[in-house]
Amino acid sequence: MRNPGIQLSIYVLAVLLMANLNAATDAFLHPELAYFDKEHLLVGSISGLFTALLGGFLLLYIRKTNAALTKLNRLNARLRDQTIRDGLTGLYNHRHFQEMLHHEFLLARRHNSDLACLMLDLDRFKEVNDTYGHPFGDHVLAGTATLILNETRITDTVARYGGEEFAILLPNTDEQGALAIAERIRTKAENYLHRQREIARIVTISIGLATLTTNQPERPEQLLTLADQALYEAKTAGRNRVIASLAAPAQAA
Ligand code: GH3
Ligand code: MG
Ligand code: MG
Repeated sequence: MRNPGIQLSIYVLAVLLMANLNAATDAFLHPELAYFDKEHLLVGSISGLFTALLGGFLLLYIRKTNAALTKLNRLNARLRDQTIRDGLTGLYNHRHFQEMLHHEFLLARRHNSDLACLMLDLDRFKEVNDTYGHPFGDHVLAGTATLILNETRITDTVARYGGEEFAILLPNTDEQGALAIAERIRTKAENYLHRQREIARIVTISIGLATLTTNQPERPEQLLTLADQALYEAKTAGRNRVIASLAAPAQAA
């Protein structure tokens, strides 16, 4: 506690408590002494009252400080959350995804484990906006985010990478596992009817994926680029499909 007034109050309270305790002990140990005469009782009552008042004040101060600290911590947590999340979907934002990509990449390398990266893009989304309006487009984006979250684990990083693009990091997941999750997301999206008022529409997703073990990227950005290229292939192959990046060519001996 840095407040000098509070430090002084704690010191005075400690001295008063000691003095009161001393007097009480003396009165108990030496009943022959006149501790309960008028003067002693008056001084004892005044110092007791003062001790109680000071103690009460300090308790109140501590409670108020604690409440202010809790509020500050909560605000800090909210502020931090706002800097790493996307406002519309609540998913992680582009910047946080980049940070996590580096983090997970290094972690996977160190533990010799796998890491999968998925890039997802809603198909012909411009048409959704143009036909049903931007607010319905926003509603579809939020619904898609929930759908993706439902199909992933708490340890995965799910982000809104851009307008109608999402990116996912799946730690400890190989190509087969990532393909299964991607296919599950794609199928769920295909069967999911986004509804708002009289509007109901199915929106499909194209997905590209790459993994550490299969594609052997040297840097985190490379893993992302490979997933993005696979996504592009999924788009050109007709959309609403999952494509995995081809394995890295074997190194010449
Ligand atoms: P493709 O199948 O090739 O991906 O076609 P597309 O129409 O999805 O792709 P395009 O890049 O042409 O259009 C993306 C659209 O996404 C256009 C843009 O208005 C919309 N979009 C981006 N961000 C938001 C947003 O926050 N809310 C809404 N409602 N729409 C958005
Ligand atoms: Mg699109
Ligand atoms: Mg796009």
